[in-house]
Amino acid sequence: ARRLLQELKGKENISLDGQKINLFANIGSLADVGSVLQNDGGGIGLFRSEFIYIGRDTMPTEEEQFSVYKTVAENMAGKKVIIRTLDIGADKQVDYLGLEKEDNPALGFRAIRICLTKPEIFKTQLRAIYRASVFGRISIMYPMITSVEEVEEIQKIVTQVKAELDADGIPYGEVEQGIMIETPAAAVISDELAKMVDFFSIGTNDLTQYTLAMDRQNDKLDRFYNSHHKAILRLIQKVVENGHAGGAWVGICGELGADTSLTETFLQMGVDELSVSPSMILPVRDAIRKSHAKKA
Ligand code: PEP
Ligand code: MG
Repeated sequence: ARRLLQELKGKENISLDGQKINLFANIGSLADVGSVLQNDGGGIGLFRSEFIYIGRDTMPTEEEQFSVYKTVAENMAGKKVIIRTLDIGADKQVDYLGLEKEDNPALGFRAIRICLTKPEIFKTQLRAIYRASVFGRISIMYPMITSVEEVEEIQKIVTQVKAELDADGIPYGEVEQGIMIETPAAAVISDELAKMVDFFSIGTNDLTQYTLAMDRQNDKLDRFYNSHHKAILRLIQKVVENGHAGGAWVGICGELGADTSLTETFLQMGVDELSVSPSMILPVRDAIRKSHAKKA
């Protein structure tokens, strides 16, 4: 089977009835870039930037971040790289931020909530990403979005960052803007959000946790934790429809995207991109090539 999968390298992600889909990879460190290329990933659909911040005593500087983003963009040689802004808090903690312990961290001060409360941190990251954008094809996405107002606030900050780069005479490229759909709130208002962004990336790990009200890390819930729950599949379907109606393309970057028992369903829903761990690229390609995108 391994040998057969190897033969899928260089082949298209196309269903039996001719529908194509982008097949990208998730990375959690610089070292993962090699395996994306080895497994013939079409791009990086989720670059978890947290690793740059975790396991150190001080905030990474703009230069440090710039150098990581630039390296990834260059190594991907023109293939799309979607960088997710800082998604820290909950299970991922860094001491130097001085965040308080919370009773309910999954529902707490995390991700975009930290970035909008501490705009200096956010702007440093955005500057580094924009500066790196001339070295490849970079997109940005924002985690844990729940409202239109958050997206408006983000857009204001992005505009400021670009104006500051202009003032400093620093070049940057076109950077596609997307949001993660990983809260039920975002899924429900995805018709409105779609008009504000270029793309959606559905984070099924958190979307499932918050929709089913079940901690994604609690083993005791395994029996109840149904990742194929109709509520999740219906939400995904609705988000794809709303995204397309509002002019946004729609991908899936949560673990469910790599579930080959659902590949055909995702094609039938019209999902535009699946982003999976590098080792799952070829198995998912295999499933795509055995699927019918149109229902019989
Ligand atoms: C998700 O929530 O599905 C996701 C992709 O993000 P993370 O697993 O990093 O929370
Ligand atoms: Mg998430």
